[in-house]
Amino acid sequence: MPELPEVETAARDLAAQITGQRIVAIEKLDWERMVETPNPAALHALLPGRQLLQIGRRAKWIVATLDADWTLAIHLRMSGNLSVHAPDTPADKHTHLVLMLDDGRRVFFHDPRKFGRVRLLDPAGLHALDAAHGIEPLSAAFTPPVLRDLLTRHHRYLKPLLLDQTIIAGLGNIYVDESLWQARLHPLRHSDSLKRSEITALHSAIQWILTQAIENKGSTLRDYRTGYGQRGGQQEHFHAYGRTGVPCPRCGTPIERVVVGQRSTHLCPTCQPVRGRPTRRTTPS
Ligand SMILES: [Zn+2]
Repeated sequence: MPELPEVETAARDLAAQITGQRIVAIEKLDWERMVETPNPAALHALLPGRQLLQIGRRAKWIVATLDADWTLAIHLRMSGNLSVHAPDTPADKHTHLVLMLDDGRRVFFHDPRKFGRVRLLDPAGLHALDAAHGIEPLSAAFTPPVLRDLLTRHHRYLKPLLLDQTIIAGLGNIYVDESLWQARLHPLRHSDSLKRSEITALHSAIQWILTQAIENKGSTLRDYRTGYGQRGGQQEHFHAYGRTGVPCPRCGTPIERVVVGQRSTHLCPTCQPVRGRPTRRTTPS
């Protein structure tokens, strides 16, 4: 499933191509369950005529600010992707939403597994979407003290806490595993057990990995494509995720796969000890 870097890439690619355009028609909508709010009929009534003022991201949602105080929010979920096409490009059977723009181009929402979702939000709806998500990990507000506060406020395993979108927004299975490997933290450490240096390491790891992944246009494991239909490149830089049995790049121990909260989890048992790394003492105790 696309995580923060993939959604950020999709939003930036879309913004570069269609900001300022007006949606003149919904040319195709053949999977009505994708419209979570308000409903397909209201989407048909309200969306045509709206101008795309700005396209950005909140958590794993692509958020398009429209005129007249509307916001179009799109979640790619498992297999969705958005792309822009010339007027005569045919939409295949997996393209379930086609928006026609005033210059004749089309925006395709291609989604073979049909888990993608669309919401047309009024200001209250947009506020609710924002309030349902935690802090943005690449924002200036996300500092080591803020992370420390989020971790120590809970007594939870690190992995499920970091996946919780109401605490930190945008992280998923890939980037949590990679961040924990980078910070040398076991996914089953308790969030309130981390030393200050470990919190700083985790904070840097999250920001560094997300930034690198955005530079590489996200990770393509199967379906994800950029807004230009290309594969991302971050999968070439994984150290732990999906690398079961492959030597850890840091110490050579084979990467292990365990299940944490029903999620497949990859870690180095040497670099990421379950009880944490012993504090180095300078005096005998
Ligand atoms: Zn290792």
